[in-house]
Amino acid sequence: MHNAITPPDFRLPPEQVPETIVEQLAGEERDECLRRIKHLLRERDAVMVAHYYTDPDLQLLADETGGHVSDSLDMARFGHESDASTLVVCGVRFMGETAKILNPEKRVLMPDLHADCSLDIGCPIDEFNSFCNSYPDRSVVVYANTSAAVKARADWMVTSGSAVDVIRHLAEKGEKIIWAPDKYLGEYVQAQSGADMVLWQGSCIVHEEFKGRELAELRKKHPRARVLVHPESPAPVIAQADVVGSTTGIIKAATELDSDVFIVATDRGIFYKMQQAAPDKTFMEAPTAGRGATCKSCAHCPWMAMNSLTKLQETLRSGANEIFVDEDIIERARIPIERLLNFAAQRKQVIYGNSDA
Ligand code: SF4
Repeated sequence: MHNAITPPDFRLPPEQVPETIVEQLAGEERDECLRRIKHLLRERDAVMVAHYYTDPDLQLLADETGGHVSDSLDMARFGHESDASTLVVCGVRFMGETAKILNPEKRVLMPDLHADCSLDIGCPIDEFNSFCNSYPDRSVVVYANTSAAVKARADWMVTSGSAVDVIRHLAEKGEKIIWAPDKYLGEYVQAQSGADMVLWQGSCIVHEEFKGRELAELRKKHPRARVLVHPESPAPVIAQADVVGSTTGIIKAATELDSDVFIVATDRGIFYKMQQAAPDKTFMEAPTAGRGATCKSCAHCPWMAMNSLTKLQETLRSGANEIFVDEDIIERARIPIERLLNFAAQRKQVIYGNSDA
């Protein structure tokens, strides 16, 4: 009989959450910075991959320079298909690591190596390893938003768009699951799949702030609005969703649903691509605790905001902020990622663009 560990609450206390500081470049200064970055990208044989939650200027630059805007796994896979020898990942650290795991022969740079993620921070490898060891009869399934070391400890990596299918598949084979790190996504997947899961107690500081009661009030004021929710949000918010989906799922829903007004519960950085995809539609942020004491990110991730034009230019100029991952970890972390890719290929699912954050 083993001693199962109950994981403590790994929610980050507000004092550990940085302020969201968005760089404001305008006019000639912005134009000059864009021009220099374009020049450096060519000179350094580099390609940009940017996440949907980053600044619109970075997404625009990626689009204009033959790079790519998407989610973490798709960013890494695009990097693999690109001929460029350097990938510049505008996103958060685990995305840089995933890009390195799938492209170990390439140089991976990031504008700011302090760009982290509360889910990644809230799942330290030593505690997670002990937790897994205390449930030796369970398969370990981790979300993409984890460090390379945590992925290396896992049997499967999943994205928000593939989690329910993978867990259902494992449950049908009689497997019991350890899930980490996001407890809200874990609860959602558990409810959808009926699987036997023990959940790590991490959370995303951005999605956790969306509030069910305030959302209900906003819906009353906008009765025609459809509600699009990322499943890292709390259950009372998910319960009011017309569509629960990954970042790509949310953008797709905005184009496909017949409504012209949407309330969106995910990082507001996604509005740039939503407005591009559906220019005639109106998008509103779902309410957060913005007027309360706990909201520090207010629907915009402070770590995503660390990616700025100035820092990107400096990284390209100096070659600083390179991502390194131990070879042994790369080898082990590839296994759960490739399991997901093979699973999707067998089912002919497209999982490009299906992970969150
Ligand atoms: S939005 Fe949440 S899940 Fe995404 S990088 Fe920021 S803290 Fe992590």
